[in-house]
Amino acid sequence: MTTEATRQPKKILIVSAHPEPRSLNSTMTSFAVEQLRAAGHEVRVSDLYAMKWKAAVDADDFPDHTADQPLDVLAAHEQATLAGRLTPDVASEQEKVRWSDAVILQFPMWWFSMPAILKGWIDRVFTNGFAHGPAVPPPYSEGALGGRRALVSVTIGARESSFSDRGIHGRLADVLFPVQHGLLWFTGMAPLEPFAMYGTVGLTEEQFTAAKHEYRRRLDGLFTDEPVPFRSLADDYNRDMRLRPGLEAPGTIGLDIHVRSRA
Ligand SMILES: Cc1cc2nc3c(=O)[nH]c(=O)nc-3n(C[C@H](O)[C@H](O)[C@H](O)COP(=O)(O)OP(=O)(O)OC[C@H]3O[C@@H](n4cnc5c(N)ncnc54)[C@H](O)[C@@H]3O)c2cc1C
Repeated sequence: MTTEATRQPKKILIVSAHPEPRSLNSTMTSFAVEQLRAAGHEVRVSDLYAMKWKAAVDADDFPDHTADQPLDVLAAHEQATLAGRLTPDVASEQEKVRWSDAVILQFPMWWFSMPAILKGWIDRVFTNGFAHGPAVPPPYSEGALGGRRALVSVTIGARESSFSDRGIHGRLADVLFPVQHGLLWFTGMAPLEPFAMYGTVGLTEEQFTAAKHEYRRRLDGLFTDEPVPFRSLADDYNRDMRLRPGLEAPGTIGLDIHVRSRA
């Protein structure tokens, strides 16, 4: 339902990962920018290849690190984050995430995951002290980045049937669980159902048009669609982080036990 509140202009960060500016992924990023701005929202884009984003975490990320000490990345991230001593590229991306009401990750599926440059954006930007860790609210539901929505927009070479219940690649919800649950939900964001374009190798003009139509609908619902109802750490798990017995509907198996049943 559209209300006055949902029509309010929002701030959206799109993180886009494709090396070719004329690619399908780059086209979908431009399309989202156009649609969201037309709806009155503010949009910023981190085009990782265009920015020549440094993907690997290493000692150069920590100006205060000295070579005589072993590099403990978790500790160094926390120290640099809390002291305001992150490198300018990382600090700038954290500022964009802080600024945003929603984050869209746009990427091609590469080896059943995201391109390394996007994984490297997460490794370097979602630091201990910013996105997780003892200095921020606990993960899964509260989380450091709470109050933000998140949408994965992924293009996939294979057919949809191969990602279905008996599909050879496993269900898309399971393949993307580490991103949806381990990254977005862990840090407190509210992930929506992913937007997936299948069969992208040899996509026809008709399929492209239909996909844009569907993506427009998903962008329209960015702040109104129900997020995936992942379970809350505080409410549904014991001290060993195991799901309390009897919460899942009978017959629920696999990763589905971590999703509340939709009434
Ligand atoms: C390293 C690597 C690993 C991969 N791993 C997997 C995997 O694990 N699982 C899997 O399923 N797939 C995999 N793939 C396939 C991959 O997911 C697809 O190649 C990707 O989704 C296509 O997106 P793209 O932006 O690169 O498309 P592009 O190559 O840019 O375009 C794809 C097609 O879309 C159409 N198109 C593009 N732009 C437009 C436009 N503006 N207007 C109209 N039509 C357009 C064209 O027909 C084009 O041929 C992999 C590919 C690579 C390179």
